[in-house]
Amino acid sequence: MSNALLSRLVLETTRAPEFIDITDQVNAQVRESGISNGLVCIFSKHTTAAIKLNENEPLLIKDMEQFLSRLAPPSAYYGHNDFSIRTVNMNEDECPNGHAHCQHLLLSTSETIPLMQGKLNLGTWQRVFLIELDRPRTREVLIQIVGS
Ligand code: ZN
Repeated sequence: MSNALLSRLVLETTRAPEFIDITDQVNAQVRESGISNGLVCIFSKHTTAAIKLNENEPLLIKDMEQFLSRLAPPSAYYGHNDFSIRTVNMNEDECPNGHAHCQHLLLSTSETIPLMQGKLNLGTWQRVFLIELDRPRTREVLIQIVGS
């Protein structure tokens, strides 16, 4: 017999890029689900906030933040930010975030982790991060646990 639990994390980010370690919250949902074996999918509902597995080491996190900023600097020109020509998907509070979309392209929207004997089967240094790429925002992450 298989079971599923879908839960939702709501996070307030404070800057960009920002790596937020959400492994403990994911583990808490796994425990709550009572599911022992299966898969855990962690999914960001955003085009400028990513989910990635990596190591939580402060100097490395700075390196990765600088790496993303070098690849797609906020100060570069993006047509998406040029509100004098852009007409599609414009909101009242539209912010220039072309760099955040381009950075997101290199990352991912979700990660799937094997669940074995009630535990995320992560490698020694693997942690789950929500990565804010835009600006301080409210972010929604779905955790879907499927198994038995
Ligand atoms: Zn945008």
